[in-house]
Amino acid sequence: TEELLRKSEKLKMAGQLAAGIAHEIRNPLTSLKGFSKLQRHATGEQADRYYQIMETEFTRIEMILDELLVLAKPNAACYKVWDVKLLAGEVAELLSSQAILNNVIIQMETGPDPCLVNCDKNQLKQVFMNVIKNAIEAMPGGGLLMVTTTVLREHVLVKVTDSGAGIPMEKMARLGEPFYTTKEKGTGLGLMVSLKIIEEHHGRMEFDSSPGRGTTVSIRLPAYQEETAFQQPS
Ligand code: ADP
Ligand code: MG
Repeated sequence: TEELLRKSEKLKMAGQLAAGIAHEIRNPLTSLKGFSKLQRHATGEQADRYYQIMETEFTRIEMILDELLVLAKPNAACYKVWDVKLLAGEVAELLSSQAILNNVIIQMETGPDPCLVNCDKNQLKQVFMNVIKNAIEAMPGGGLLMVTTTVLREHVLVKVTDSGAGIPMEKMARLGEPFYTTKEKGTGLGLMVSLKIIEEHHGRMEFDSSPGRGTTVSIRLPAYQEETAFQQPS
């Protein structure tokens, strides 16, 4: 975890990130340029195929830019008190069709207490989205995905556990590095952006994994402390 936090500090080095972005966007652009040229002389099925490839590449650029937008606009954050239990539930529901298609069962385990956190709702939802998506993607043959929320005295804890491939020891340190991905269609930006968001919320994110058995991502956020000033006897 210390490793991850230090890593996210390093991200402030704009040069590294800029180089990565330039590289990641140049690849699909090069491909787009090539196929748009071929496209001019193509007809029928071949033309369709070229269009398809171009569409994939446009989508890729779009995905990269969408994920980077959070980093670009840190000041646009809007903090309010929300129940993280509900936010995680909304995201789990949004991803339920993707889960079903992948034979993944999502199980929510939440206690009766609200898990109040002063947070930017959309940013936290994006974190849950990234982490739950990763969990689904770690189980290509299906499996169980558990989302649990608990309130500890000063913290709210959200855990996302999958029964997937796991993360080999030597790869742990690379999590959250910009553009680090092991997926063919990955951007390698999800965890970097998530770590950044959690850090800005004064929280922590930890990874616990046993290769071949699964992974647990724990997100700890400071619980909202209600004002006690009014309750003091006069
Ligand atoms: P992406 O999902 O686009 O690859 P992320 O930043 O979300 O990028 O994740 C980076 C990498 O971390 C993934 O490619 C994968 O190798 C690893 N990873 C993240 N979450 C999990 C998980 N739950 N199980 C196994 N590997 C994971
Ligand atoms: Mg991801």
